[in-house]
Amino acid sequence: MPDVFLRKFSSYTPELEPFFNGFFQLYSSRLLKCRKILLKPNLLQAATSERAVTTHPEFLTYLVRSLKRFTRAELILADSPGANFNNFSNVLKITGIQNVCDKENITVARMESFQPIEKDDFVYSGIADEVDMIINIAKLKTHSLTGLTMCVKNFFGLVPGTAKVAYHRRYPSGNDLGDKLYSLSALFADKSLNFLDGIIAHEGEGPSRGKPVNLGIVAASENAAALDIEITKLLGLPVNFCTTNAEAMKFLDVEEIKLNTGACFDGLSIKTPVSMKKSIIPDSIKKIVADKIYVKPEIIQPKCTKCLLCLKSCYADAITFENKTVFINKELCKECFCCYEVCEDDAIKLKRSFLHRIFVK
Ligand code: SF4
Ligand code: SF4
Repeated sequence: MPDVFLRKFSSYTPELEPFFNGFFQLYSSRLLKCRKILLKPNLLQAATSERAVTTHPEFLTYLVRSLKRFTRAELILADSPGANFNNFSNVLKITGIQNVCDKENITVARMESFQPIEKDDFVYSGIADEVDMIINIAKLKTHSLTGLTMCVKNFFGLVPGTAKVAYHRRYPSGNDLGDKLYSLSALFADKSLNFLDGIIAHEGEGPSRGKPVNLGIVAASENAAALDIEITKLLGLPVNFCTTNAEAMKFLDVEEIKLNTGACFDGLSIKTPVSMKKSIIPDSIKKIVADKIYVKPEIIQPKCTKCLLCLKSCYADAITFENKTVFINKELCKECFCCYEVCEDDAIKLKRSFLHRIFVK
């Protein structure tokens, strides 16, 4: 019977610490036995904390200060940020996370620096098996492919480097990828505690191209999927809007989740990505015009710095670099939006086809 603890905070304040203390207290005997703990924030890209793309450094600070009361374990912070995994030090610096790690004496590592593990059709960094516990510290954001990204999807960062591109190749749709990511997170269900930073969340064209929105949400649970399901409901969205929830619901009875909250979140909402809008066309007609209803990425050439992160993230080989210019071949594009997600220069926009603008509301 999973519990989800939910509180309201209007800003990143020291008042977060007592909330974390109360939650960690529930797991104090387990925490005391740990020798190594992995801290897994969301460090998607080199974006400043004001953009709400990554876990806020102050959220991490108060969480770590609280955690240290309950454990003497070595704390190791690691992630694999999109196609920019080779430039992890820059991501840590820009997001403000390196500063927290220096102050709080946290070891920093790249997911790629540990031997990858291949198990049950998954590939993930060996650090996940090496540690006694994973503290999963997700950011609440909308997501162009999976609807929302929260605790379950944050486990995708355990997958090292370009192996993430292979997951997209094998599971191209948001629903298939969502199912697979739930199964990945379930491998670590017995050794993870999950937190969600939704104080300043990210809405609209998430996970990196939307806007910050103050929702005041902080949540914690031993069960990542239960937490995600409760937050999806709180935002007034159907549970399956977040595609990682669908597989979870085969194993979890939503009615059984116990919500522990003293706060009132009435009327909360979030702007959703254009790619997740619903078609109003009858199914019979949809089949005929399906290939004319699409959302495709397009490069804004003057903004493009030719960093080629988009090219490295494209599993469909739809992006090329010719004559010093980056191109997207729309015919080859499978609409996974990874290029859009990883571009740190705001140089890719999503363009809706004529019929998409008419029939998808
Ligand atoms: S579109 Fe963005 S990610 Fe791609 S090369 Fe240009 S700046 Fe880099
Ligand atoms: S070009 Fe298309 S297939 Fe390639 S990363 Fe971008 S959205 Fe995905």
